[in-house]
Amino acid sequence: MQAGALRGRRLTIIIGDTQAVAVKQERNVRMCAAPGEEMKVMEVKLITRRVVFILLAASARAQVNPEICRYPLGMTGGQIQDEDISASSQWSESTAARFGRLDFDNGDGDGAWCPHIRLEPDGHKEYLQVDLRSLHFITLVGTQGRHADGMGNEFAQRYMIKYSRDGNNWVGWHDRKGRQVIEGNRNAYDVVLKDLEPPIIARFFRFMPVTDNSMIVCMRVELYGCEWLDGLVSYSIPDGHQMIYRGLDVYFNDSVYDGASAERLTKGLGQLTDGTWGLDDFLHSHIYSMWPGYDYVGWNNKSFVRGYVEMIFEFDHVRNFTSMKVHCNNMFSRGVRMFRQASCYFRSGSEWEADPVTFRPPADRVSQVARFVTVPLGDRTASAIKCRFHFGDLWMLLSEVAFQSGSAVYNTSLTPRKHGHPTNTLPGDDPTHKVDESNTRILIGCLVAIIAILMTIIVIILWRQVWQKMLEKASRRVLDDELTARLAIQTEAFFFQHSSLSTEGGSTSNSTYERIFPLCADYQEPSRLIRKLPEFAQSTEHLDGAPHYAEADIISLQESASDSSTYSITAVNMNLFAGTDSSMKEFPRHKLTFKEKLGEGQFGEVHLCEAEGMQEFLGEDFSIEGNNESPLLVAVKTLREDANKNARNDFLKEIRIMSRLMDPNIVRLLAVCVDTDPLCMITEYMENGDLNQFLCNLRLKEAADEDKAEQEEREGTSMVSYCKLIGMAVQIASGMKYLSSLNFVHRDLATRNCLVGKNYTIKIADFGMSRNLYRGDYYRIQGRAVLPIRWMSWESILLGKFTMASDVWAFGVTLWEVLTLCKKQPYSQLSDEQVIENTGEFFRDQGKQVYLPKPLCCPERVYSDLMLSCWRRNAKQRPSFQEMHAHLTESLA
Ligand code: AMP
Repeated sequence: MQAGALRGRRLTIIIGDTQAVAVKQERNVRMCAAPGEEMKVMEVKLITRRVVFILLAASARAQVNPEICRYPLGMTGGQIQDEDISASSQWSESTAARFGRLDFDNGDGDGAWCPHIRLEPDGHKEYLQVDLRSLHFITLVGTQGRHADGMGNEFAQRYMIKYSRDGNNWVGWHDRKGRQVIEGNRNAYDVVLKDLEPPIIARFFRFMPVTDNSMIVCMRVELYGCEWLDGLVSYSIPDGHQMIYRGLDVYFNDSVYDGASAERLTKGLGQLTDGTWGLDDFLHSHIYSMWPGYDYVGWNNKSFVRGYVEMIFEFDHVRNFTSMKVHCNNMFSRGVRMFRQASCYFRSGSEWEADPVTFRPPADRVSQVARFVTVPLGDRTASAIKCRFHFGDLWMLLSEVAFQSGSAVYNTSLTPRKHGHPTNTLPGDDPTHKVDESNTRILIGCLVAIIAILMTIIVIILWRQVWQKMLEKASRRVLDDELTARLAIQTEAFFFQHSSLSTEGGSTSNSTYERIFPLCADYQEPSRLIRKLPEFAQSTEHLDGAPHYAEADIISLQESASDSSTYSITAVNMNLFAGTDSSMKEFPRHKLTFKEKLGEGQFGEVHLCEAEGMQEFLGEDFSIEGNNESPLLVAVKTLREDANKNARNDFLKEIRIMSRLMDPNIVRLLAVCVDTDPLCMITEYMENGDLNQFLCNLRLKEAADEDKAEQEEREGTSMVSYCKLIGMAVQIASGMKYLSSLNFVHRDLATRNCLVGKNYTIKIADFGMSRNLYRGDYYRIQGRAVLPIRWMSWESILLGKFTMASDVWAFGVTLWEVLTLCKKQPYSQLSDEQVIENTGEFFRDQGKQVYLPKPLCCPERVYSDLMLSCWRRNAKQRPSFQEMHAHLTESLA
């Protein structure tokens, strides 16, 4: 394993048998250098080497060389079109297949393909598919996760690859030892490159993450290789035999053949096209720890009464064949010789032509070196070739067959080879080699000139890169590495851009959000207020045309900003029910009986209803704690009648999100009524309503209050102990721990969005804000958005970043609410403008920021170790929900 750093981004390369990996990115040639070697020196060397190879190849025809055939095929560089990238499913529009492009150079880790989570036990069914439009020889694959500059954490730890040459027959790739699963990424940052041993020849490729389905997985991928110019789509041969040499079992079977195997091997490719040439001594393999004979496919003369082995080669289309190169063993001291004669028949239509091309290489009784034998094919036209290789001795061993046809030329050299010592000077060998020699002098002259020009260009490029890096470093010094001032200013401009779009005319009274968020005291429009911060009060001109790192999403947000009828969050037009979980069932609407109105939410009203036959409807799924009443009481959330298309989409998205969540501290979606309007979601009923109202009506029970408690209870005001409050906080932390295990960002955690059931059971609800789940890290607040600024982290307000860490911030505020029994709004002494000013202080971090005070009942340790740590400026230093859950549980003990 070797690693090199690329522009501050980590690159992990896991190499199989080869010693170094050369990867040419579209813009830069990069070498994954051996430790201690200078990256740039290697880049130069690589370019030079490549030029030499390309030029030499111009005068020679050769088989593919896996050492050279390692070019990125266009996921990164964009040569592979979006329409050629597809997937079995996607979590959302913003994580569709087309975002699954590996991002070597400039990426911020946003954008990736993330499949839909299915709760099936057999995990690895989801795939990201790439169509390369023609057959390619693939030697290397690269994968990467999604990190979003520290805010995302999705990656595929393991994956498998399937491939197909025709789009119909799919084959699962496995390594030379039969292992199908490839170890993938260990974190969301590193690009992990994996050698494919054996390489794959195919047109279609599927990356299939292997998961247990409890985690969200995201992938970005690249395929490395080169076009498969042979055009060979399959060969058919009798499978190889076993030799016993001095008591040693030597297996000459085609162990990587990917077609069918009955009497003959048919419809596949294997060792004869894997680009690996056998050693002179067939007992040894250059592939570590493989069995004797591994490199060769071989046959014993005694099994073939006619004295020859017949092989049929099928091609993608009719070609004009000039020659065939066959790599043969010639260890005659052990009864192995190259073939004595090859007779090849040709077929363009359905019939084999009668006249074969016959070639007899001179027998070599001197050298035991394995070699390529070139069989001239006389420019015959065919789509299939049948060759009969006549035995020259007891055994015939072949390790590679390659065809040269038409203009098919690999940009590789004949000269270099991996491990063996093929020579082209032996009798019967390649006649084209002589042509090479005659051209060599001219080529060397050209090469010297071209290399000199190239070196100059490379020096200029390198010098520019170094200069750019210096500039970048200088600009980064202003802020820490996580969030740069530059980004902040970009965001500011974004806010301005959108606020100017939407607040022109001053009034926000007809904003959709006022209707969406009736709890207007808790939600504010931050962009108007942010403008008052000195750092953010500049003109928008900075950012005119400033490209943003999540441009695709910004564009769609901008589009929705210009549409006055949209929500604060852009509606993504998704097929919401494509691949939804089976748990989301349609309940017969007529079986719901209205009882009373419970409240009003973002989408419409919430009603208490009786649901007749719900228990039977849910069947085995029915596990609502201790509730066996029939008819069952349920809460029914209905989309308001006048809802526009986007509201409808968002409502459906909330359903989709909730249907996937299953935790004791998350409100459970039982069923839906979406076949006809109005759309309804049916959730479990939480008899004590929302936590804010619930706590508001309580008083804290102190030690001295024990006597009063009974009296108060009679008067209608109940009391609650500190332990009970912490018990509620533990439940919220537990629900959030579950969400964070799914990398799910809630965005609107607050007591108003928690519901209270029997016995102080708390469940998190209201997933309205989280519907753009995967936009989380680069989600931008629109000018008109009204947001819960008192619960929001500074980076959510100023940079529009909603992450797990900003949920942690909101949890700190929620904990504060719980321990103050929601008697006051957070920062009640501050106006909305002052809250934003305070956010600016968090951003500046000069010790002037105001924190929420310690609630009276809150122990010092809980305040300083927990609550304050949720509000740390550096998002990475905030605790995780797991830690907080453990901490709170411990404090209860
Ligand atoms: P929402 O639209 O989710 O914000 O809900 C609006 C209000 O309806 C909440 O503040 C609760 O008072 C009430 N409510 C919502 N869902 C439920 C439920 N499952 N059980 C009881 N009350 C609920």
